[in-house]
Amino acid sequence: MNDNYDVAVVGAGPAGMMAGIRAADSGAKVVLLEKNERPGRKLLLTGKGRCNLTNAEFDLRKLVENYGPNGKFLFHAFSVFGPKEVRAFFEDLGVETKIERGQRVFPVSDRAEDVLKALIRRLTQNKVDIIYNAEVVRIDASDQRIKKLILKDREITAENYIFCTGGKSYPSTGSSGDGFRWAKNLGHRLKEPSPALVPLKIKEAWVPALQGLSLKNVEMTVFQAGRKEKKEFGECLFTHFGLSGPIVLDLSQKVGELLKRGEVKIMLDLKPALDHAKLDERIQRDFQANQNKSFKNSLADLLPRKLIPVIVKLSRIDPEKKVNHITRTERLGLVQLLKSLEMTPTGPLGFNSAIVTTGGVCLAEIDHRTMKSKIVDNLFFAGEIIDVEGPTGGFNLQICWSTGSLAGQSAAGARK
Ligand SMILES: Cc1cc2nc3c(=O)[nH]c(=O)nc-3n(C[C@H](O)[C@H](O)[C@H](O)COP(=O)(O)OP(=O)(O)OC[C@H]3O[C@@H](n4cnc5c(N)ncnc54)[C@H](O)[C@@H]3O)c2cc1C
Repeated sequence: MNDNYDVAVVGAGPAGMMAGIRAADSGAKVVLLEKNERPGRKLLLTGKGRCNLTNAEFDLRKLVENYGPNGKFLFHAFSVFGPKEVRAFFEDLGVETKIERGQRVFPVSDRAEDVLKALIRRLTQNKVDIIYNAEVVRIDASDQRIKKLILKDREITAENYIFCTGGKSYPSTGSSGDGFRWAKNLGHRLKEPSPALVPLKIKEAWVPALQGLSLKNVEMTVFQAGRKEKKEFGECLFTHFGLSGPIVLDLSQKVGELLKRGEVKIMLDLKPALDHAKLDERIQRDFQANQNKSFKNSLADLLPRKLIPVIVKLSRIDPEKKVNHITRTERLGLVQLLKSLEMTPTGPLGFNSAIVTTGGVCLAEIDHRTMKSKIVDNLFFAGEIIDVEGPTGGFNLQICWSTGSLAGQSAAGARK
């Protein structure tokens, strides 16, 4: 069986679905190929099932700063279809959105499923042929052009092709890195893919006891050899192996890099709103109010219940000591502990637990105005396959919408 299209998009994740919609908007006959039995498996997991679909940073210069040095590559794509346009796009499709802390944009319904359904509706309206259980197994190319896509039971030919196969993280969702392999075989350079936005394993034996504890408004600082390397403020989560949660994910890449050079320390400030002196005053007030209580029963107003036995133990203050017998030195030691709870990361978890993949197809070989390959005449890229990623907060899906939209329009526009 051989089917012929103007544009063939490989991968029905957020980037591929957007690319398919845009290519069809421009009048192209489009096929969208997905190896799973349904589209957007990873999209359904986003934002813990709520889908943080973009970030309401409407100043594009500030927006690109979130993506590090590679962010400049995205400026054009953002200026054509940025966060503002993405919100309007989804609202048009009936997905009302709301803005939460950190300018994170979510559907009002809190359901990633609604985002996915809206995309599928629009693909169907646009008469995009969506083929599921359609794993592309080989790319047939010669003379710097793709000739056809080889699937198990058919071949697909198109004038232009868009690779939207994602990265290598959460491979159970279908993102197994096929596009990286194809791009490399076609002559593209790859920046070695590695897991990013990933939980950290922690050495300290007291950490697993805190499993499930989520702390909001804390500050985490990464140190190496006494030097402050990176700091984040927000929410963290203790797990049976170590740490997760937004600030940990955002620090994970730095920690991974530093660990290649030597030991790394993480300091958790449990009370960043109070400096040492203010926290000491606060503790003195609490002790005053609990004069006759033992130390272990005096911290209920200051700390979450689960954390108290751990802090009591690490403080080395006798748990049974009456608070009015606690010495100034002991109290100042407690302040210090709460301001810099030390942990030793031993490594990030792997691709199975990584929110995104860092690395991918080198930016120097993709035209940022079109997402077209500079190596292969009729190939375009969109989404996580490209060597650019952002922090948590909706920044990664924004890459998919913007590059998907641009690649779709450009691939359709490049028809002869
Ligand atoms: C748990 C989790 C939560 C996340 N939460 C957020 C969030 O709230 N906000 C945010 O901005 N980002 C979030 N992300 C990141 C975001 O999901 C990704 O950046 C995004 O899904 C990448 O989209 P993509 O279209 O490039 O690739 P993918 O979503 O990985 O889609 C690629 C598709 O290609 C298909 N495919 C692969 N190979 C082939 C082949 N050979 N033939 C046919 N099809 C193929 C795959 O099956 C898959 O469906 C989260 C990620 C995870 C894992």
